[in-house]
Amino acid sequence: MLHEMSWTEAKRYFVKNDIAIVPVGSNEQHGPQNPLGTDHLIAKAIAEETAKRTKILCLQVIPFGVSSHHKQFWGTVFISSEVFKNYVKDVCLSLSYYGIRKIVMVNGHGGNRCALIDMARELREKGVFVSIFQWWEAANKLSPDLFKPEEEGHAAAEETSMNLILHPQIVNMNEALNEKPRKHAIKMEGVTLPLDTVDETSSGVFGKSTTASAKKGETVLETVVGELVKHVTALKEAKIEDLMQKPKV
Ligand SMILES: [Zn+2]
Repeated sequence: MLHEMSWTEAKRYFVKNDIAIVPVGSNEQHGPQNPLGTDHLIAKAIAEETAKRTKILCLQVIPFGVSSHHKQFWGTVFISSEVFKNYVKDVCLSLSYYGIRKIVMVNGHGGNRCALIDMARELREKGVFVSIFQWWEAANKLSPDLFKPEEEGHAAAEETSMNLILHPQIVNMNEALNEKPRKHAIKMEGVTLPLDTVDETSSGVFGKSTTASAKKGETVLETVVGELVKHVTALKEAKIEDLMQKPKV
C-alpha cells in the first residue's frame, strides 16, 4: 500500500516497476440493508487482495464518484463527471511522474465508467495505459445458478453477498427487501433516458436482495480476485510499446 510506505521504500518500488493498482468507488445509497460505502469498500478489498497476491503497488481507494442519480436517497455524495475524471487523472499523472506506465483502475461503481474511459483515452495519448476492471462484469464467469438476473442489480443479492463476506458488521439483513424496478412510461428498447434511481425504485434496491449470503459472496470474491490477478499479471508482462497508440496508417 503506497500510503504505508516511506518515500525511500516507494522509490525502491518505482525504480523497478511500471505498474500500480488504483481502486475507485462511490458513497451512495445501496438499499436499506447495505452501507453507503458499498462500492468503494468492495473495490478496496478486491484491489488490496490482488495487490497482496501479485506484489503490485496499490493506492488508497478514491471513495467518491459520479453518483448524482442516487442523490434523492440520503447520504449520497455526488461528484461531477468532469471533476471526478480530472481528479483521478491527476492521481494517475502523479504515478506516471515516478515511472508508472500501466495502471489498473479497480472500479466499484458503474456510474464512474464513462469518466474513467475518457480519462484512460486521454492518458494513453500521454504514454500511460490505464485499464478498468469492474468486478460484477468479471463475475459473469460464475455459474448462472448462483444468481438469477434479478439478483444481479444494484444493491441486490450479488452485491449484498459481497458486503456480507467482506464486512458483515455493517450489513443489516433484517432490512433487506425485494423490489421490482418500475419501467418508465416512455421507456422502450433502444432508448436511453436520463433517469434517477428514484424514478425506478423506492427502496434503492433493483431486484431481489433477500437471498444474499456470505457463502455466495465468498464464491464471487474468489472468482473476481482470480480474474483480476490474471489481468494484472498479463498487463505486467505486456510490453509498453504494444499498449501504446498506433501511428496513422
Ligand atoms: Zn454498488
